[in-house]
Amino acid sequence: DASTGKFTVSFIEGDGVGPEISKSVKDIFAEAKVPIQWEKCDVTPLFINGLTTIPEPAVKSINKNLIALKGPLATPIGKGHRSLNLTLRKTFGLFANVRPAKSIEGYKTPYDNVDLVLIRENTEGEYSGIEHVVAPGVVQSIKLITKDASERVIRYAFEYARAIDRPIVSVVHKSTIQRLADGLFVNVAKELAKEYPDIKLQTELLDNAVLSVVTDPAKYSDIVTVCPNLYGDILSDLNSGLSAGSLGLTPSANIGHKVSIFEAVHGSAPDIAGQNKANPTALLLSSVMMLNHMGLTEHADKIEKAVLSTIASGPENRTADLAGSASTSSFTEAVMKRL
Ligand code: NAD
Repeated sequence: DASTGKFTVSFIEGDGVGPEISKSVKDIFAEAKVPIQWEKCDVTPLFINGLTTIPEPAVKSINKNLIALKGPLATPIGKGHRSLNLTLRKTFGLFANVRPAKSIEGYKTPYDNVDLVLIRENTEGEYSGIEHVVAPGVVQSIKLITKDASERVIRYAFEYARAIDRPIVSVVHKSTIQRLADGLFVNVAKELAKEYPDIKLQTELLDNAVLSVVTDPAKYSDIVTVCPNLYGDILSDLNSGLSAGSLGLTPSANIGHKVSIFEAVHGSAPDIAGQNKANPTALLLSSVMMLNHMGLTEHADKIEKAVLSTIASGPENRTADLAGSASTSSFTEAVMKRL
């Protein structure tokens, strides 16, 4: 924005604890003088002709700003509507889900040196939604894999590995069983690897990969893992458990060709909503990913360091999910003091 010298970012504050953790991000960004102005977006879904749709002003805002930060959205249960998160992914063509999982100093988990990066294909595979009843008691669910979707997510994995200086891309698959579907995914990776001679391609069977990462996660510190949708869904939560033991700490990015949306992995936490108890770290670390994506790396480093050193500083500065006694607002103030 030429008049203010600031970037404009769409902000979907979300439901449940969303507004509380969003306030924390806004306060910390203001204190850190990040050159961003927020455009608040309401994505309360509209149900038109049985389809879940996002209100037009929100779609316009995100298409204009190209970057959005998103709090958790509650999915109404049992109404037969597609989840709003899925709708967002489809609306903006968000084909890759990037999920880093890194140990946090000061909060003890079974492993100390976890630094995992996983990229999940976000649009097809088992999530294509193609299912039907073949005969009573017999159903069929179709896993769709296309060359185009595989290529764009694997290419992104190679580019991401380059950007964060990791020498290996590992494709996790099960092509011994899903010969055609996962076979295509692996073959696309082998073709693309020729364009990235500086990066080594490795392939790993899903079962081996799971055993290997829970046995020795440090082995993956040089690797960017990429996999089809369902494997990525499961493996990314496993990674979060290994690194943090709490989804309240895990950030993510949803990347499209034009638009990218950054969000905490956790849900709206209705059990603690409105009580000043939520841990804003996951949304804060998502906002750090966003700043890095935008090239605002100094601000990203400053905020990341302040958040992590606050958590490391003692239980009085940690929220209840990390066995501490801080509230959302006292944690936020402690981070602001450390900037
Ligand atoms: P949840 O992540 O909201 O909560 C699971 C547990 O983790 C709860 O005990 C909660 O208090 C705790 N928790 C979550 N975030 C926390 C935080 N920041 N600080 C401290 N504790 C935290 O999962 P759920 O209860 O299964 O889902 C609740 C709602 O959220 C549902 O409507 C679900 O559809 C939705 N959801 C949305 C997203 C998203 O928008 N990306 C993701 C998952 C679930």
